[in-house]
Amino acid sequence: MDLWFEEYQTKDMVISCRVLRTLHQEKTPFQELAVLDTVEFGRMLVLDDVIQTTIKDEFVYHEMITHVALNTHAKPVKVLIIGGGDGGAVREVVKHQSVEKVVLCEIDGAVVEASKKYLPEISCALENNKAEIVIDDGIKHVRNNKNTYDIIIIDSTDPVGPAEGLFSAAFYKDIFDSLNEEGIFVAQTESPFFNDSLVQRIFKDVSGIFPLTRLFLANVPSYPGGLWTFTMGSKKYDPLDVDIEKIESMNTKYYSPAIHRSCFILPPFVKKLLG
Ligand code: SAM
Repeated sequence: MDLWFEEYQTKDMVISCRVLRTLHQEKTPFQELAVLDTVEFGRMLVLDDVIQTTIKDEFVYHEMITHVALNTHAKPVKVLIIGGGDGGAVREVVKHQSVEKVVLCEIDGAVVEASKKYLPEISCALENNKAEIVIDDGIKHVRNNKNTYDIIIIDSTDPVGPAEGLFSAAFYKDIFDSLNEEGIFVAQTESPFFNDSLVQRIFKDVSGIFPLTRLFLANVPSYPGGLWTFTMGSKKYDPLDVDIEKIESMNTKYYSPAIHRSCFILPPFVKKLLG
C-alpha cells in the first residue's frame, strides 16, 4: 500500500512525501512524536505532523545553527542549546576545541530517547563527555542561569505549544541576561516567505535588546519553502569581522569559511523585511 506523510506547511499548502514505514509513534506529554522512514529524505523526525529533521538535509541546519555563532566568538567555552533534542546541534558544537561544556535543555525527554534509538547519525554526540542533557523548559532554564553562557542556541519547534514563549521579546531579554558579557545567541527564525511578519518582529525585538543583530540564510529542503532564516544577537562580536582565513576546517558539508560570509548576503526582499 502507498503511504504518504503530509505536512500542512501553511493552512493552504501541503507538502507530501512517500513513506516506506513508520518506525516509531507515540504521544508524549508535550506532542505527537513520529519517526518515519521516507523515500526521498530517509529517516525523519516529526513532531505534531511537522518535519523537524531528516537524514538527508539535517547537516545544513545543524551546521548553520552552530558554526556561524561559534566561529564568531573568540573563545566559546560554555554553550547552551534550547530544544534540539535530536542532538544534531550538540554533534556540531563538540567539534569546537575551546568548548568545555554544552548543555542541552530539551523540554521533552521522549525526543532525546527516540533520536538516540532511530537517528544515531544525528544523536551520536549526546553521550559525549562535554554534553549535559537537562530535561526542562528552556524559558525556566535561562531565567535560573544568569551570566553563564558564551553561546546560546535556540533550536526550537515552530512558535506554537511549548515553543511559543521561545519567540518572545521577554525571552530574548532573559537570553541576554543568561549570556556572559561577550555572549552571542542564535535562533532558527522560520521562513522569509511564509513567516515574513514573524521574521520582521523577531529582528526588531532582538535589535532592541542586543547591540548587534544579524540575520543569515541557509537552504533546508525539508522546511517550508527551503530558504530558512537564523537571527543572531551579539553583545560584542560581529560575524562579518571574522577573519575567514582563520576558520578551522571541521569536516562540514554545508558550512565553510566562504559560506560564513555569504550567508549574510540577503536578497532585497529579505533586507526590506528588516527595515
Ligand atoms: N530543527 C528543528 C526545526 O526547525 O523544526 C527543531 C528540532 S528540535 C527537535 C525542536 C525541539 O524543541 C523539540 O524536541 C521540542 O520538544 C523542543 N522544545 C519546544 N519548546 C521547548 C521549550 N520551551 N524548552 C525546551 N525545548 C523545547
